[in-house]
Amino acid sequence: MKFIGAHVSAAGGVENAPVNAHIIGATAFALFTKNQRQWEAPPLTQKSIDTFKANREKYGYTPSQILPHDSYLINLGNPDSDALEKSRNAFLDEMVRCQQLGLDRLNFHPGSHLNKISEEESLLLIAESINMALERTQGVTAIIENTSGQGSNLGYTFEQIRFIIDHVNDQSRVGVCIDTCHAFTAGYDISTPEAFAKTFSHFDRVIGFKFLKGIHLNDTKKGLGSRVDRHENIGDGLLGIEPFRLIMTDPRFNGIPIILETPDESRWAEEIKMLMKFANAKE
Ligand SMILES: [Zn+2]
Ligand SMILES: [Zn+2]
Repeated sequence: MKFIGAHVSAAGGVENAPVNAHIIGATAFALFTKNQRQWEAPPLTQKSIDTFKANREKYGYTPSQILPHDSYLINLGNPDSDALEKSRNAFLDEMVRCQQLGLDRLNFHPGSHLNKISEEESLLLIAESINMALERTQGVTAIIENTSGQGSNLGYTFEQIRFIIDHVNDQSRVGVCIDTCHAFTAGYDISTPEAFAKTFSHFDRVIGFKFLKGIHLNDTKKGLGSRVDRHENIGDGLLGIEPFRLIMTDPRFNGIPIILETPDESRWAEEIKMLMKFANAKE
């Protein structure tokens, strides 16, 4: 079973996200549990939590169909100790929010070394940051997203993600989200059936499909290995339709939230319909 949706708006409160997902015919969704461009956010109210849970059930979304995303400001590999502490506190708050909402995973970008420390030193800070958050929360898995490797962003190779996982104490609560645009622009070709098979067998060898807890579906404006992150709507970019059809017909991607982050949200309903058609053609 494929769970397909998009990163929907939670404007006006997290309780609106399941409603917005239902409107576009989604069977999965992503959301921010706070304003993603601000450090501080008021705590979730009990009313908001209760309404979110009621709406989630009303529209038939289980936690395994929901992939919350953390704030873009957080850098868990920040070499500056004050900035690192700020990020760690914000990340813990995001994990707590997921726990309060009854959600079981939080998707985040690993972090950046800012050209001040080595990649390995920054990756170790990221693993330590994850450990600190896991020790203070329950039931929420930390989901590392692969990146394009733009600037000093880490997590652009499967080996870097594996390195982080290897340094997490509770490996039952760490997972991975693969973003198709990020993978391609980081240098992993998935545009043809042969390249797709090769990239995902490499993924399975280095990380393992058992850690895969989410997928971001994005076409890309930028080329293979460009290390530039510019999303495009499905079929309009350099990936074309093929890799998305391949994901939809591959059982290794069953049972996890598959989330569109494509720029033109007026097309999400249509993109979801197309993806569901691919998935159903197989079953
Ligand atoms: Zn993404
Ligand atoms: Zn991206």
